[in-house]
Amino acid sequence: ANLDPALADRIDRRTRLLGPAYRLFYQEPLTVDRGEGAYLYAPDGRDYLDAYNNVVSLGHAHPRVVEAVSAQMGKLCTHTRYVQDGILDLAEEMLPTFGGQIAENGHMMFTCTGSEANDLATRIAMHKTGKRGVIITSEAYHGTSHLTAGYSPSLGAKSPLGTWVRRVSAPDSYRRDVATLGAQMAAEVKARIEDLERHGDGIACFIADSLFSSDGIYSDPKGLLAPVAEVVRAHGGIMIADEVQSGFGRSGEAMWGYQRLGIDPEIVTMGKPMGNGFPVAGIAVRHDVVAPFGQDLRYFNTFGGNTVAIAAARAVFDTIREDNLLANAVRMGDAIRDGLRSLKDERIGDVRGVGLYVACEFVTDHTTKTHDAAIATACVNLMRKKGVLISSTGPGANILKIRPPLIFDASHVDRLLSTVEAALKEI
Ligand code: PMP
Repeated sequence: ANLDPALADRIDRRTRLLGPAYRLFYQEPLTVDRGEGAYLYAPDGRDYLDAYNNVVSLGHAHPRVVEAVSAQMGKLCTHTRYVQDGILDLAEEMLPTFGGQIAENGHMMFTCTGSEANDLATRIAMHKTGKRGVIITSEAYHGTSHLTAGYSPSLGAKSPLGTWVRRVSAPDSYRRDVATLGAQMAAEVKARIEDLERHGDGIACFIADSLFSSDGIYSDPKGLLAPVAEVVRAHGGIMIADEVQSGFGRSGEAMWGYQRLGIDPEIVTMGKPMGNGFPVAGIAVRHDVVAPFGQDLRYFNTFGGNTVAIAAARAVFDTIREDNLLANAVRMGDAIRDGLRSLKDERIGDVRGVGLYVACEFVTDHTTKTHDAAIATACVNLMRKKGVLISSTGPGANILKIRPPLIFDASHVDRLLSTVEAALKEI
């Protein structure tokens, strides 16, 4: 690309200092130096509507989180080996929201990242079952640790998968029969479990992102995973709901995405929006599932669940509920989907998602449903030029991924939609 020389220099410097493994967004990468609400600002003051960053789900620099973190940092920041009330108050407030058996008799454990949360959940599942097989969806992403990267095929075709990992097809509601998706998935899971058993691994857990983000964003049908859970449990396995993307009200319908999928998981993992940008993540786990692990091992995570992280998480969790952000996510998400459908653009094959997680899939024609990555790439980059930030996803990279903060309002939706429309007209 023809980059401004000053930007090109900055990018060279970045590559020199940070090395070759990082990736920037956009053909013309964006420099930012401030964020507020739904907006990011470039050093020249230009605003960019952030319709992509699901970490700051209360909006950038949310005053309540800023205040909670600064006040706590000035008072005390230490780890979980001292008795402190804040962490207990948060756990007490969060546990009932999981419903089912976790609400009845479950625990919260805290980490710094979603990867660590999944890593810990998997270790607990392996310990409880005495098995090591892990079943995932075909383009899953679950983390950066050695264990979780071993079952994150979306890291790239050359990223090694564990020999104890099996994949099932994503629940592609656009191409497959939605009414029988759950049964199809359960049948595939059963076959994979039998294969794992034949290889002497057996099944420790089935883990899925409750919105199947890296698979292409699928939220239908309701109750999808109920038949899968039945098969997994019949073979002694554990259900892990990865709520790193779908948690904290993203779906609008419930605090947790799995609640739409009809399961009562043994372990729930969470992260990203939990601290609105402050690193805090964790798991909720049924007592009987973590009991053997707790008996045989100790768990200590220096920064996980530290006093400041807990203060951030508390501010976020309270704000989501007090400001009715779930209801807002439903309204704004539906408005975005309605707006995209009303464009009646031939290149759009499917608009889907739930709450403030929206997918808009481009295809070369509606019968073969062949991926059209070129349109998605052009649209994402043109929208960035026009001041709206989104991205693309899916195995064919042909799906617009729109994932705004939960505080999105009607004016943000208008700007997003008019920018998509303008970009598509220009392509
Ligand atoms: N699980 C899912 C579904 C994710 O999307 C991510 C992050 N993209 C992770 C786990 C890992 O979280 P983190 O980057 O905080 O380690």
